[in-house]
Order: sequence, then structure tokens, then C-alpha cells
Amino acid sequence: MKVPFLDLSLQHCALRQEALAALAATYDATRFCLGKDVEDFERNFAATLGYPRILGMNSGTAPLHVACMIAGFGPGDEVITTPFTFISSAWGISYVGAKPVFVDIDEGTFNLDPARIEAALTPRTKGIIVVHLFGQPARMDEIMAIAKRRGLFVIEDCAQAVGAKFRDTPVGLLGDVGTFSFYPTKNLGACGEGGAFVARGERIHTQARHIRVHGSDRRYYHDIVGGNFRMDGFQGALLNVKLPHLGRWTARRQEIAGRYLAGIQLAEVQLPAQTDYGRSVFHQFTLRHPRRDALREHLARHDVGTDLIYPVPLHLQRCYAGLGQGPGSLPIAERAAATCLSLPIFPELTDAQVDHVIASINKFTG
Ligand SMILES: *Cc1c(COP(=O)(O)O)cnc(C)c1O
Repeated sequence: MKVPFLDLSLQHCALRQEALAALAATYDATRFCLGKDVEDFERNFAATLGYPRILGMNSGTAPLHVACMIAGFGPGDEVITTPFTFISSAWGISYVGAKPVFVDIDEGTFNLDPARIEAALTPRTKGIIVVHLFGQPARMDEIMAIAKRRGLFVIEDCAQAVGAKFRDTPVGLLGDVGTFSFYPTKNLGACGEGGAFVARGERIHTQARHIRVHGSDRRYYHDIVGGNFRMDGFQGALLNVKLPHLGRWTARRQEIAGRYLAGIQLAEVQLPAQTDYGRSVFHQFTLRHPRRDALREHLARHDVGTDLIYPVPLHLQRCYAGLGQGPGSLPIAERAAATCLSLPIFPELTDAQVDHVIASINKFTG
């Protein structure tokens, strides 16, 4: 039996007719940039997931950039974030000329460790970018307590956590700004690039709405420096087709994760931590094993696709060598990068495929 790490074609084949009809309607109406499809999506997404208001943008990197502009981070400022994430979590900090400060993670959840944030604060610390990695909410209560005490601007990178809640609050509403990505491989994927921005406060929402269209409220009049962060109409149209299925897809991801958690019985394996403050939406199912590379080869021999997410923590990326956080400086993240292995977890996997992954893992003797 073959189990690919990810196969996007299954979901898109199932929705093909409905999706192409929606795209055709957008084409015929020439609603190419923002417009009705995007407005409908913003309203639907907000209503479905419990947000007061949403702005569609043209990637998951875009709202992070916009959030850093609104936060007012700049040269001389330090912004704390996690080294164990996709690089984009840190890009916004660099785009506005501030300095990313990478803080080590929690061993079990792979997310920022509040105690280490506390230890990394300096008089120059202006904000925190929290990432709800792999769909698992971070410890927002403790992080927000630090932020409130120090007056820090908090951005939640929810790219991997669409539909997740911290206790009863949808992720993205605990900090000042939340950001989403609809990159095709995400839990809710567009047919191209896409993202979204959510702000708890009306004022920040309005600022972001202006920044999205060149700092403009009125065509050809520019009150603030903005950019082009618009979502395109085709993405809004396709996301409207997919959104009604998200709840079912998330439940299936959680079901698959439950099967993995109950079935994998391998010495020395560390399974993803479950917490009482937020259930993961399992964008990834990432385990750890001291002989990760051998386990990966063993699974490949059993036709099981896996991936290394992430093989190199951000502080060791060449682009951030100048920050001076060298090898050994963030040992938990470095160990995670060296031992993590992500298993197939997408809603269209069959139980038989999941059981094949489990049986193959349990046979590993390396
Ligand atoms: C995917 C992702 C992003 C960026 O999204 P793009 O849509 O690729 O720009 C940001 N942060 C995290 C954690 C991601 O996984």
C-alpha cells in the first residue's frame, strides 16, 4: 500500500465541478482583485470561525508584514519569535528593519516557551510573534500576561491553525493581530496564493484595510504608506467553495491523529503533546525519534511518505547568521530539528492507509 505524504488532487477532484463553476463566474464578471467573492469570503470566514471581521490578503506572509508595519516595529527594536517555524514568521520583523530575537521552544508542543520569553526581554523588546505550530495553540494566557505587563504588541501567526481555539477563543483574537495563510497545502488551501488578517480592534482593522490598497481609502489619495496586499477574486471564489467543508476536514485530521496517538507503539518515540488549553487542528502530525533518518528510510521502504518540518531552525539559517545566535544557542529547537519527522495527515487518507503507517512504524527496529 502506498501512502503519499500529501495528495492535494483528491480534494480538488471531489470539488472540481463546483470549483470550476465558481471560478468561471468570477472570470465572467471580471472580479479579479478584491470584489464580491473576496467580500463574501471575508464574511463567511468570520461567521464560520467566530471572528469579528477579516481582511483577505495575497499570501500568509502579507498579513505578517502588514501587522509589523502597524505595530510600528523599526530599527533598534527587538521582536521575539520562535526559531522552530516556517521562515515567513520572521520575515515581517526584518522587512520593517527590526531585529528578530529567537527564543527557545517547549519540548513537547514545539511552541514558544513563556518562561524563556520572560528571560529574553530587554528594554528594546517591542513585540512577540507567536506561532501556533502544526495547528497546536501556544500558551497564550502566559504570553499575553507578559505582553500586557510590558506593553508589547502581539501577533499570532495562525497559518497552520485555522479553526483552532485557545480555551474558548479562536486563535488570532488573543493578541493584537492574527494572520492566516491559504497556501494550497494549508488546512484551508486556495488555488494559488492567499492569506488573511484579523484584528481584535476596529482601529487596527481599518489601518490594515488601507495599507492593503496602497495606504488609500479613496482612489489616488494616499494618507499612509501602504502596499499591494489584495486577495484576488479567484482565491475568494474557491475559498467560498471550500470553507463549508473545513469543519469536517479538521475533524478528520483530528481523527487520524487520534489513530496515530493510540496506535504508534515504538520505543523512544515522542508523540505530539496534547494540552488542556487548546486542541490541535493537526496541520502536521510531527513525532520525534533519536534515529529519525533511519526511521524515515524505513518508512520510505514501506511506501510511506514523510517530510522534515523543519530541518533547520531559523537562527541557523544563513540569512540570519548576522544575528549572532549560533549553533548551540537554542538547544531545544536544534534537537527538534534533528529528530522531528512529519507523517501523512490529510483528510482524504483512508483508515487503511493510516493503519499501514502505524504498522510500518511499529515494525521499525533500527
Ligand atoms: C505557510 C506559513 C506562512 C506563510 O504563508 P505564505 O502563504 O506561504 O506566505 C507563515 N507562517 C507559517 C507558520 C506558515 O506555515
